[in-house]
Amino acid sequence: MVKKYDYIIIGQGIAGSTLAWNLYFENKTFLILDSENNNSASKAALGIYNPITGRRKALTWNFHKVFKGLEKFYRRVEKNIGVKILFKKDIHRPFKNNSDWNDWNIRLSNQNFQKIVKSIDDKKVITKMSGYVNVKKYLTQTRKYFKSKNRYYKYKLIDKNIVIKNNEIRLNGYYAKHIVMCMGIDQKKINFFNKIDIKEVSGNSILTELDYTLNYIINKKISIINTSKNKFYIGSTYNNGSEDVGYIKMLDEARNILNKHLIFKKSFFGIRSTTKDRRPIVGKHSRIKNLYIINGLGSKGISQAPYCSDKLFNYIENNKEINKEINIKRFIT
Ligand SMILES: Cc1cc2nc3c(=O)[nH]c(=O)nc-3n(C[C@H](O)[C@H](O)[C@H](O)COP(=O)(O)OP(=O)(O)OC[C@H]3O[C@@H](n4cnc5c(N)ncnc54)[C@H](O)[C@@H]3O)c2cc1C
Repeated sequence: MVKKYDYIIIGQGIAGSTLAWNLYFENKTFLILDSENNNSASKAALGIYNPITGRRKALTWNFHKVFKGLEKFYRRVEKNIGVKILFKKDIHRPFKNNSDWNDWNIRLSNQNFQKIVKSIDDKKVITKMSGYVNVKKYLTQTRKYFKSKNRYYKYKLIDKNIVIKNNEIRLNGYYAKHIVMCMGIDQKKINFFNKIDIKEVSGNSILTELDYTLNYIINKKISIINTSKNKFYIGSTYNNGSEDVGYIKMLDEARNILNKHLIFKKSFFGIRSTTKDRRPIVGKHSRIKNLYIINGLGSKGISQAPYCSDKLFNYIENNKEINKEINIKRFIT
């Protein structure tokens, strides 16, 4: 007999894992299906969260609301898995030149920036409300936890396993009231939601070793985090498209920033799913009644995923409208 669930989640990256925890906290039944792809964005992510976005150092959209629930959410996950995954850290941002210093002083006239700047001198600005989530642990521990409760299976979704009847989606062998696709850039390979305009931005991160301790994150074009004794993660590169351009330049940059010889250990490669307006995509399919999506998390998966999955949950269960900025209605599905 086919087992019935409230939800099936396709994809166990940051988006799918986060939605799964939300459903778990809300006592819903669900199953996670994931093909365990090697190049998912989440597997390469450094896991940094901070309210500043991109090269232009703009404030992240809706950062007050997005950051409000972030720490609480990951702390609640920690309690269940029994492993610490969220680490609060300030970010030290050395100035690249005089104009960088000048730009930061201009930003400081904005009240929102005043809230996130801890200090500024002639060499660097230190920002707060930031840290990192150990994504590797978050993903493996989430998988382990839900596997032990028979809520996770390795499974690759392909079009021919999808059945549409009375405008509802079913997967061969599985039954759920709602199906949520959290497939990152691989959404493009499936015949649903394939008209939404998501673009590949590939990137690398690296693990290095150094006998040194750093109690904060350094950001100077690239970011450097000291996660445990001698372990330093460095990221990230950004390349339009899906090509693996490599990490050598980034390793040199990190050595220059620290003025120390980091020893290379391992590299990671992933493809981000990004949107033109740099906002996530959350919502329901325009024709299929029980099909939903969370996608387009760009380079902000760790901070946006708890917010987006909460919005989707409240839309499905409590009929609450999803904000227009992240609503899928801005695309044709
Ligand atoms: C180098 C790099 C560094 C980054 N650093 C950060 C950072 O510091 N902070 C931050 O917030 N974000 C960072 N990001 C961005 C972050 O990784 C993404 O925002 C986030 O991982 C997107 O998660 P996702 O779950 O939407 O997609 P993905 O991580 O791509 O996950 C999709 C999942 O779906 C599964 N899947 C795909 N196809 C199928 C199928 N057919 N059937 C079943 N399952 C399927 C895959 O196996 C995968 O597990 C970084 C990204 C890169 C590449």
